[in-house]
Amino acid sequence: MSATGKTVLLVEDNEDNRIVYSTILRHFGYQVTEALNGEEGIAKAKAERPDLILMDISIPIIDGWEATQVLKHDPSTRHIPIIALTAHALASDREKAMEVGCDGYLAKPCEPRAVVAEVQRFLGRSEPGTLPGGAPAAPQAGAPAHTPA
Ligand code: MN
Repeated sequence: MSATGKTVLLVEDNEDNRIVYSTILRHFGYQVTEALNGEEGIAKAKAERPDLILMDISIPIIDGWEATQVLKHDPSTRHIPIIALTAHALASDREKAMEVGCDGYLAKPCEPRAVVAEVQRFLGRSEPGTLPGGAPAAPQAGAPAHTPA
């Protein structure tokens, strides 16, 4: 069960969600680091270089949209897949998630199993920068940035 050895950074301000997602991810063999706000999330992403980031959008100090943009504009962290967790199942939120560079998107409330499934979808890939052409929700992770930061 602890076969992956991969690290997930969970950026989530809600304690209940944090406990639920951390617990199931650890159960499935992932190492989980936690951050409570966007500022801490950016700092831990840069310091620890997790294999994937689960990013709640509604978080204090720096929201998940902005934190994602910061990480996707930083050459040291831009390759890390970011899955957005948003409270609204709005089409506009999905569009915004892709626009700011999120690699995946989950609308809350999300089943813990759905979170694991999405994480596995990414961490099962050996080359995160090489995405299959048919994946609709996957922006080109290796593409050059549109803006010079
Ligand atoms: Mn939140």
